[in-house]
Amino acid sequence: MTDPNRRDKFNLPEGVIYLDGNSLGPLPSHVPQRLANATNEAWGRHLIKAWNEDDWIGLPGRIGDRIARMIGAPKGTVRACDSTSINLYKLLSAAIEKSGKKGIVLSDTGNFPTDLYVAQGLVASEPNISLKLVDPEDIEDAITPDVCVVMLTQVDYRTGRRHNMERITNLSHEAGALILWDLAHSAGALDVDLEGVGADFAVGCGYKYLNGGPGAPAFLYVAEQHHDTMSDVAGWFGHAEPFAFETEFRAASGIDRFTVGTPPVLSMVALDGALDLFDDVKRADVAQRSTALTQLFIDEISVFADAYDLVLATPIETKNRGSHVSWHHPNAYPVMQALISLGVIGDMRAPDYLRFGFAPLYNTDDEVRRAAAILREVLETGSWDQPQFHARKAVT
Ligand SMILES: *Cc1c(COP(=O)(O)O)cnc(C)c1O
Repeated sequence: MTDPNRRDKFNLPEGVIYLDGNSLGPLPSHVPQRLANATNEAWGRHLIKAWNEDDWIGLPGRIGDRIARMIGAPKGTVRACDSTSINLYKLLSAAIEKSGKKGIVLSDTGNFPTDLYVAQGLVASEPNISLKLVDPEDIEDAITPDVCVVMLTQVDYRTGRRHNMERITNLSHEAGALILWDLAHSAGALDVDLEGVGADFAVGCGYKYLNGGPGAPAFLYVAEQHHDTMSDVAGWFGHAEPFAFETEFRAASGIDRFTVGTPPVLSMVALDGALDLFDDVKRADVAQRSTALTQLFIDEISVFADAYDLVLATPIETKNRGSHVSWHHPNAYPVMQALISLGVIGDMRAPDYLRFGFAPLYNTDDEVRRAAAILREVLETGSWDQPQFHARKAVT
């Protein structure tokens, strides 16, 4: 294994142990200059010519192919575009279309709320489609022949529980259903192999482990055999000839048909720059470091967990967890605020999860040990129980 750690390539503030890269990845040091160039040179001087001269028009494809490497997808099957929520809508509508517009869309109650909201909205306009939610542990048994699309997030945003992608994909296909995976908490941290498992559709986030910056474009994956399908959201960037300005929509021949409108160029440039740090990184190495970091954290905390009401919410078996670790605690919110005030940045997820994300590209074993020691100190001294740590902020 080659250690994928390249912490020196990030601007991480002194004294901060950053364990929230699963919510917002940190800033790669070279990205501000990239953005300055895209602004001052490309936008400022080249003006509209930059679409060609700086290949802004090619950004969704170039970035898509770079992300493809990290999720086991062939070139030409991934595009960077829109947000995860919007891409999910697009691909779920395409999957429903392809499956004959009849049957059950199956998901689980641990799925991220936006995924469920998107599905609820879409299903409401489909007379012969219904949405069924089961507990995450019951998902495999619920894949019956009346299911037309299985829509799941691989890693549970709260608990870190990881679904078995290969087995669930196989079960879905055996039942005659298509599968749509959300890789928001997987891409850049786990060894995802979309082509290897035979996944039909996938979406994921640009601003989490891929470090693309706040509001970075998301990505979508469509297996080649579904490039003849179309989503419900047609736009000029998905047209066969956008600059023919035809009255009728004619879909582009490949993955491009799943793009819609003008890409957010500056955000694309930031994401493109951030992906440089993955260029010589192997998925398997990233995954191995992820497992080592999460295991070390679990081991360090387990020593004192019982004494301070910490209950592990994350599966203990390595193959069943993603790259973050969560603990239930009755005072999760003020405890996390106290940790943040001491430079250990994780987050709290309702109702009572203390959540810590581990990023193979910049987190170190030493940070894991120090974070565990600081958590112990906060609980031991009760320093979390101060009014300023109880006041709720808009973003938790
Ligand atoms: C973070 C996350 C999202 C975010 O969606 P946006 O449209 O980017 O806000 C969606 N799904 C899952 C599973 C996530 O973890």
